[in-house]
Amino acid sequence: MKRRLELDKNLFGQKRFSSADGSTTTTKSVNPYTGRPFSQRYYTILEKRQKLPVWDHRSKFLQLVKENRIVVLVGETGSGKTTQIPQFLLAEGYARNSLVIACTQPRRVAAMSVAKRVAAELDVALGEEIGYTIRFDDCSSPRTKVKYMTDGMLLREAMSDPILRRYSVVILDEAHERTVSTDVLMGLLKEVMKRREDIRLVIMSATLDAAKFQAYFDNAPLLKVPGRLHPVEIFYTPEPETDYLESALRTVLQIHMCEPEGDVLLFLTGEQEIDQTCRRITEECQKMGPEVGPVKCLPLYSSLSSKLQQRIFEDPPPPRTPGGPKGRKIVISTNIAETSLTIDGIVYVIDPGFSKQKVYNPRIRVESLLVTPISKASAKQRAGRAGRTQPGKAFRLYTEKAFQKELQEQTHPEILRSNLSSIVLTLKKLKIDDLVHFDFMDPPAPETLMRALELLNYLGALDDEGDLTKLGEQMAEFPLDPQLSKMLIVSPKFKCSNEILSIVSLLSVPRIFMRPPDKKAQADQAHEKFSHIDGDHLTMLNVYHAFKANHDDSNWCFDNYLNYRSLKSAGSVRVQLERIMKRLNLSMISTDFASKDYYINIRRCLVEGFFMQIAHLQRTGQYLTVKDHQTVSLHPSSCLDHKPEWCLYNEFVLTSKNFIRTVVEVRGQWLLESASHYYDLSNFPDGQTKHALESLYRRFQRNY
Ligand code: ADP
Ligand code: MG
Repeated sequence: MKRRLELDKNLFGQKRFSSADGSTTTTKSVNPYTGRPFSQRYYTILEKRQKLPVWDHRSKFLQLVKENRIVVLVGETGSGKTTQIPQFLLAEGYARNSLVIACTQPRRVAAMSVAKRVAAELDVALGEEIGYTIRFDDCSSPRTKVKYMTDGMLLREAMSDPILRRYSVVILDEAHERTVSTDVLMGLLKEVMKRREDIRLVIMSATLDAAKFQAYFDNAPLLKVPGRLHPVEIFYTPEPETDYLESALRTVLQIHMCEPEGDVLLFLTGEQEIDQTCRRITEECQKMGPEVGPVKCLPLYSSLSSKLQQRIFEDPPPPRTPGGPKGRKIVISTNIAETSLTIDGIVYVIDPGFSKQKVYNPRIRVESLLVTPISKASAKQRAGRAGRTQPGKAFRLYTEKAFQKELQEQTHPEILRSNLSSIVLTLKKLKIDDLVHFDFMDPPAPETLMRALELLNYLGALDDEGDLTKLGEQMAEFPLDPQLSKMLIVSPKFKCSNEILSIVSLLSVPRIFMRPPDKKAQADQAHEKFSHIDGDHLTMLNVYHAFKANHDDSNWCFDNYLNYRSLKSAGSVRVQLERIMKRLNLSMISTDFASKDYYINIRRCLVEGFFMQIAHLQRTGQYLTVKDHQTVSLHPSSCLDHKPEWCLYNEFVLTSKNFIRTVVEVRGQWLLESASHYYDLSNFPDGQTKHALESLYRRFQRNY
């Protein structure tokens, strides 16, 4: 008890209250932020917090930050970095004078979840002293002192506040993830630090090539927080597994039947896989007899609502009968649970060895999320999750030989495998013109940069000198891919800003159509009534209008196999994008719905953004992408029931075959009208597409 009070004083100092008679009384148990006594929960959590490894290094850390402008901090996952370090700085007074401590996260889920936790730890309401900001969701206020935010959001803020005036300390957390935004922020912060003596930078991570970061940041000092990991026994499969999902399912069930008490964490690659496996495990476990305990199987991925995400921290279910076999919590997660979030109580980890990773091929301009083998570093992190609270076991669903020989040491930084058009626009807006000499920790491939510049030039965001145009300035205001922001900006000209705004919002949220594996036919039938003959963008618009006409009804969504959460968040994205449009004086106009031009205007506006994502039907019946010459097929999910000559697509999907997804029919002549610079035949690959365009040009000239 004594220790607790002392630490309280350390954290907050003493709070003085004036009594009516003018004398002052001192109390140590009042929350300085709310003025109310601390709740019982505060003390319960405080006790746990003080046991976290970073607490032993609190004064050392604060000393280092005081004496150095940049500090690198490495500590095992779960050692308390993300939740405690910002609070140490807060208590030390770094958020005085309305300055804010920023802590960046590569993942939205982590930013939200951690902010919520820290608000609870400080016994304040989320969004007040402790807040978070992620794209399309700002839960912070002028009172916010510690702000968890995605790295992308801090980069956005730098556009309007280039020297990050609001911040006293920037913590780049999870730096080992090496997202494009974190990489760019590192370069940017180096510049900011030249102009601002008073700002501090902390680089944090669980597994970090610390020396590389120290060297990059002028030999910044390193603080290592040793973890308190329990030993983890590692098991490999004797033979390679052909179906990792089946094998994962089998392993979960076996653990549940045969292994002693302890929760399970299974890593899978994406939402669909996770939901499906969750369902199957629950079903299988229900079939088991009373000799095994009950299970609570919980999914974790980024598009899950924050309420459902929070469930992973719940306790395992109680035994069915008093004294009966103990219950078990089974969490099935994407990479989020690898280092970003720590779930206590995990004893068994199942690692199939895959994750979804971005891959970009600049030659054909295709970025895709592919299920890819993880790195050795990831495999080690995953296994480590089993030893948080007691000795654990990690089951790797691959052979030891595969681990040694096939897995690469580290995952390549994202900047080396992404489409960079959006980030280049951001850099241009930040007035960083010399991209080649920007201080990247790992510079991107020249071809990737060229592709980004080229796209922005074709879209009219950059002029031929590579300078930002007025249109480009406006485009950078939107937290969207440049094609989408271009469409929004030109939409008033096509008298369809209301509709384009809805379509862009729908394209910015997880898929709105649900198609459960066991109810495919029913789902397809339900979706059919929204179907628009010209294609998927318009079908999505029909869905949105029907959703609104049904007053955002979740039951209506359920009956129609639509994703309520996605539609709801499309609504909120829409509100925020509309706000930006108003700020830029872009008017909200619609064509009369009865007019024959209603849908034509929308499709023409889509071409304004996506004229580089067009597929042309060949005589063979196959589609070829324009200029890049990739053979593609319409994705089976498309509502198109015919094969139009020209298709605009939103997404190129690489699976066993190349598909284009979210497709709409367009007219060849619109391509020439909107993007004659791109469809310049003097520099166009030969083939049927060129011939088709030539004849269009001829007809075009006759008509005009
Ligand atoms: P690190 O950033 O070093 O990986 P964190 O600061 O995220 O560690 O977490 C430290 C500890 O705080 C975790 O081990 C866990 O016990 C606890 N914790 C964090 N978030 C939550 C939460 N949302 N609910 C309950 N406990 C949490
Ligand atoms: Mg962390």
